[in-house]
Amino acid sequence: MITLDQLPLRADLVGQEPYGAPQLDVPVVLNVNENPYPPSPLIRHEMAAAVVAAAGTLNRYPDREATALRQDLAAYLGHGLTAERIWAANGSNEIMAHLLTAFGGPGRRVLAFTPTYSMYPEYARNTCTEYVAVPRHPDFTLDAALVLDAIREEEPTVVLIATPNNPTGTVVPLEVIDEICSGTEAIVVIDEAYQEFSAKPSALEMLDRHPRLVVSRTMSKAFALAGGRVGYLAAAPAIVDACRIVRLPYHLSAQTQAVARVALAHADELLAQVRQLAAEARGFEAWARGRGYAVIDSEANFTLIGRFADRHRVWQDLLDRGILIRETGPAGFLRVSAGTPTEMATLRAALDDLNPTIEGNTP
Ligand code: PMP
Repeated sequence: MITLDQLPLRADLVGQEPYGAPQLDVPVVLNVNENPYPPSPLIRHEMAAAVVAAAGTLNRYPDREATALRQDLAAYLGHGLTAERIWAANGSNEIMAHLLTAFGGPGRRVLAFTPTYSMYPEYARNTCTEYVAVPRHPDFTLDAALVLDAIREEEPTVVLIATPNNPTGTVVPLEVIDEICSGTEAIVVIDEAYQEFSAKPSALEMLDRHPRLVVSRTMSKAFALAGGRVGYLAAAPAIVDACRIVRLPYHLSAQTQAVARVALAHADELLAQVRQLAAEARGFEAWARGRGYAVIDSEANFTLIGRFADRHRVWQDLLDRGILIRETGPAGFLRVSAGTPTEMATLRAALDDLNPTIEGNTP
């Protein structure tokens, strides 16, 4: 068999590994910020019926503009948005790939603020865009001065800001985003993958004021559709047009579009679960603080807790008990996604039982 090093792989990809958290078959999976609740039987049946209906025309290419889906997404987001201000793709991963293909590329920079989502450098690498990472404040917050100074220094064409941020869960206030957008001509992408879990307002309300602002969302978390692969953005029509230039034709399958529309039709039911999950995450944080763990203030469906003297050991000990969490974020911290009440009780009991050494406080 030929090996990778015998192939004409792009020089910047040599030695790189595929991204991905472990996918292990264990009883309690709390490592990738998924929604622990599968679609209800009613939603499943409607999805199945929608796929059967779509199968009747699978000999044809799907609507490459995904118009009906984009209309539904616009209606879900509100804020007076219409389909031409929405773009949809195969996960928000692909939304970012479209944005960086259109607005990044050789000789251009994308700026992000670390610690943040570990896929950002990969989107940059894949699109041959230079990735510049600037550290957040020690408490993982961002203010306009920090961001605008970095923009002046690095001159990026795209700025990526996740809020709530992964892995810290910290949010960036709207006034800060407003000031950033007023102070730059760069495309500012606000990644709101976890926005539905947050009690803070969305940047959607600033789209009319800031033509280069992009708000990115996903159906993977709030809509419990990680397996369906649908991400989307809201922005000016011109930004959507840029994405339409670089997308592969028919990038969203007919089945994907059909299934996503069913999930959107049940937004009320799914968002009720979101509130439950947010409460579960906040409850876990209160418990962890009570036990003396350092906890980063989160508005997402996950929490960073620490500071473990040996976080890998704790991660492994939990895994040995059938609980998979994520070894990521600042040194000494572990990230826990909110699960069902039973899953969280299992985790709390395991942590109490392990009684791991924790040191110092504040990150
Ligand atoms: N942005 C952030 C901040 C995320 O944490 C994730 C998922 N972990 C994504 C984007 C990508 O989500 P998806 O591709 O499933 O839409």
